[in-house]
Amino acid sequence: MSSGLTWLKHLRRRRGRQVVSQAVRMYEFHRTPFEKIVDNILDQLLRYDARFTFPTVASVAPQKPEVLGKIIGAGCEVAVHGYRHLKYSLLSPADQKRDLAAALSMYRQMNVQVSGFRAPYNAYGKDTPEILNDVGLLWDGGIGYSRQYNEGTEMFRVPLAGGQSNFVCIPLSRWSDDLMIDEYHYGVAQMVAVMKRELDKARSSGSMVMFDLHPIRMGQPQYAGALGEIVSYGKGIGGWFPTVSEAVRFRQGREDWGDHEFCCLLTGDIDNFYFLDYLRRLA
Ligand SMILES: [Zn+2]
Repeated sequence: MSSGLTWLKHLRRRRGRQVVSQAVRMYEFHRTPFEKIVDNILDQLLRYDARFTFPTVASVAPQKPEVLGKIIGAGCEVAVHGYRHLKYSLLSPADQKRDLAAALSMYRQMNVQVSGFRAPYNAYGKDTPEILNDVGLLWDGGIGYSRQYNEGTEMFRVPLAGGQSNFVCIPLSRWSDDLMIDEYHYGVAQMVAVMKRELDKARSSGSMVMFDLHPIRMGQPQYAGALGEIVSYGKGIGGWFPTVSEAVRFRQGREDWGDHEFCCLLTGDIDNFYFLDYLRRLA
């Protein structure tokens, strides 16, 4: 860890205490190898026949192709989370296009089929929707995080110069793992209570809810059980837990959830597999 410690010192000089305490927390989380993190999540899901969608930074994907293979083998989905973990809202349209193209090309090379996108930090530039539309993706999972949309209960398309986006957007609940764990310091019981409440809301309106639950936190032994509890509860009240692509395809041209009362989309971004890559991103 000596190179990690050097980075931490560098960060403390440059970015201050809060960034450093978050980095220490991430260091602790990264002591669980990512293989184990993903296994912990998949174990919980498979017990209840539920799916999870993992928007993953494409430049790190080749570090662990076997993890991606396991995700896909479990019937789950990999989506695009940028080629690098950059704020699209700060990039020129040309740079956004380049980053997105590099990500798509990487997944093509790896033979990983991707149909969806979530921008790093849920940060979109005003040109980003047009750029996404041009590459023909099926869905976006981050535009729906903005205040304007995050209380919504239905998929939607965004207005573009020529009409509406071809891709579908999904409201993204503000109740993310980082909000509950890092910001509010919730324990597992509180997290489960909040997510059950959101499932109840989706059920009562026959609609949907999408969560962003980063594997680096939710795949830890102390949190993975919460995932199982949520899915078990949700299934008990008639919920469907498909991948995002499954849900989007199912919903096209209809207003119900078939045999189910409502739909819950479990998603979680993979920003990096290794702690050093996390630190490099901050510096
Ligand atoms: Zn991210």
